[in-house]
Amino acid sequence: MSREAFGLPPHPPRDEGGKLCRFCFNQCLLGPGSKGYCGIRENVEGKIKPLPKEGFFSWYYDPLPTNCVADWVCAGGTGAGYPRFAYSEGAEYGHKNLAVFYYGCTFNCLFCQNSSHKERLQRGRPHPTSDLAQAVDDRTSCVCYFGGDPSPHLPHSIHSSRLALAQKEKEILRFCWETNGTMNSRFLEEILDIALESGGCVKFDLKTFHSSLNTALCGRSNEQTKANFELAATWTKKRKEPPLVVASTLLVPGYVDRQEVYQIAKFIASLDSNLPYALLGFHPHFYCRDLPVTSRRQAQECQEAALEAGLKRVRIGNLHLLGNDY
Ligand code: SF4
Ligand code: SF4
Repeated sequence: MSREAFGLPPHPPRDEGGKLCRFCFNQCLLGPGSKGYCGIRENVEGKIKPLPKEGFFSWYYDPLPTNCVADWVCAGGTGAGYPRFAYSEGAEYGHKNLAVFYYGCTFNCLFCQNSSHKERLQRGRPHPTSDLAQAVDDRTSCVCYFGGDPSPHLPHSIHSSRLALAQKEKEILRFCWETNGTMNSRFLEEILDIALESGGCVKFDLKTFHSSLNTALCGRSNEQTKANFELAATWTKKRKEPPLVVASTLLVPGYVDRQEVYQIAKFIASLDSNLPYALLGFHPHFYCRDLPVTSRRQAQECQEAALEAGLKRVRIGNLHLLGNDY
């Protein structure tokens, strides 16, 4: 029902004889006129559109340091990796981030904190990769692809990044992705490679540990997210600073509690105990308007649980959003 309002299919389509989209784990089979679970890709006269070099998105500039999930460890927020990956030894004042907001998502989180992407995809028009590459100006030192989720648009962001890099060959230009981790693993390796070479990072939003909870809250299981995260963690030794992979979890009151965070953190620590993990405050939004904001106590308990689970770098983000104890 939460999807009907936006004209989105309730489940990934499995149309007999349809075209297979392999961009993400949903693997939609799209018959003529059928739209994928993400609401982005559809079968138009026998071709899946938008084409790989087109995307539905908007963009804006954010002066650095900005409130990125990774700002406490990344080159733009801290100067980590200076001088190869950052313009200054501390935060990069005077430079800016190009934030690319992709529409559509491969999950259906009832607590979505950015749900306007669903309304926007109904009115947007596709932009070519060159539009994005041209938006990178002299003061842009990083590009962050987020959404919605960038997964239905990864070939677009990969091509845009390569175009922009060719334009700024000898300058610092980092590329980062913020994602639920449901993409085709082949694309994940391509974005890890671009982030590695450019000084950027891939930020995984690990929403839950248990698959049943993920399905209840986000419509789909988290098996692919975990598998992709394990794959990404095999890359972390290739570059220590700034970290190549960062994890985060939204602390949804009553659902993502101390026990859930402990399990997520244990999973991360089993792969790399030095991997940075950010805990984010929830704000009542979308179909979860009846929940309170995350309390300070919940955030502190979750931070303690993540440290107990063996992680070394755990931070509470969005401090300003946290509420009083209840
Ligand atoms: S990107 Fe994923 S959700 Fe969208 S059409 Fe392709 S397989 Fe389906
Ligand atoms: S886009 Fe990347 S480098 Fe820039 S502020 Fe965000 S995490 Fe840091």
